[in-house]
Amino acid sequence: MIDPFGRSISYVRVSVTDRCDFRCVYCMPEHMNFLPKADVLSLEELDRLCSVFIEKGVRRLRLTGGEPLVRRDIMKLFRGLSRHLDTGALQEMTITTNGSQLQKYAAELADCGVKRINVSLDTRDDDKFRAITRWGSLDKVLNGIDAARKAGIHVKINTVALRGMNEDEIPELIAWAHGDGMDITLIETMPLGEVDADRTDQYLPLSLVRARLSEMFTLTPSDKRTGGPARYVHVAETGGQLGFITPLSHNFCESCNRVRITCTGTLYMCLGQEDAADLRAPLRASPDNALLSQAIDEAILRKPKGHDFVIDRRHNRPAVGRTMSLTGG
Ligand code: SAM
Ligand code: SF4
Repeated sequence: MIDPFGRSISYVRVSVTDRCDFRCVYCMPEHMNFLPKADVLSLEELDRLCSVFIEKGVRRLRLTGGEPLVRRDIMKLFRGLSRHLDTGALQEMTITTNGSQLQKYAAELADCGVKRINVSLDTRDDDKFRAITRWGSLDKVLNGIDAARKAGIHVKINTVALRGMNEDEIPELIAWAHGDGMDITLIETMPLGEVDADRTDQYLPLSLVRARLSEMFTLTPSDKRTGGPARYVHVAETGGQLGFITPLSHNFCESCNRVRITCTGTLYMCLGQEDAADLRAPLRASPDNALLSQAIDEAILRKPKGHDFVIDRRHNRPAVGRTMSLTGG
């Protein structure tokens, strides 16, 4: 699949549910309206959809949400899709999770061929953790991370940089992650969906974070790439890799190789644009994949050049109406 700008689409992120057991302040309001179950694709439909993308050249698949591990029977989907790893059609199957259910599922994920996961963790301070996630338990997440590592899964920590919330803790988080052999990536908040909080209060430019970090650490740009938008530096003092995802202060769209699918089968060709294609109708219209395949081809031809996120007082409204938990982070 090649888009109009010559970018080859080899990476799909699929949100398997819009539901979550946390309510992170930058991601969703506390009283979130979730989608009716009938609108959400069944596990069999998700398998079929992912398999068609793999047939069309997708090599890396990331399951996300909402919180992917709160979906009932989710391991059936992992187990089913692992057949594409066995044949070599798929190079990597991975997951982005808040870690709350990892203790329960880490061993099974590893058994299904999951080698690398991203766990989102913005703080290791109990009170701050509760303030950021509203409903989460830090202990459960830390135990989940341990379980994943014990199962032989490589864990990368994703940390959203939040002004006045975790900005002072970032050096400590880096030292902790690297001390345990985990990479860590810092992310800027993006203006996605209405949340209860003011995003201009939350937004902390990573250019500023990086400048502060370089006063404490020796940062050397690294050529490490994981196929995503993160740009890495090597931290001499800790010996680990530190990633920066800077959708606002530096646009990374020119090398975008991905598309996203919501749990209702809506294909978004760009995280920051409204244009989308409904894949659920062609999926449900016939057991044959021809209609679905055609709908995907047409959508890829409409993949835009990029997003244009802005967060400042004048633009204090979401770039798009849907939250990250719907599109899939
Ligand atoms: N629940 C899982 C988790 O938290 O890892 C997966 C879904 S979550 C939407 C994926 C990632 O998006 C998380 O790392 C989260 O911190 C990030 N995220 C959510 N809303 C965001 C926003 N408005 N701006 C930047 N990152 C966001
Ligand atoms: Fe849930 Fe992840 Fe959104 Fe937090 S960031 S509310 S864990 S979906």
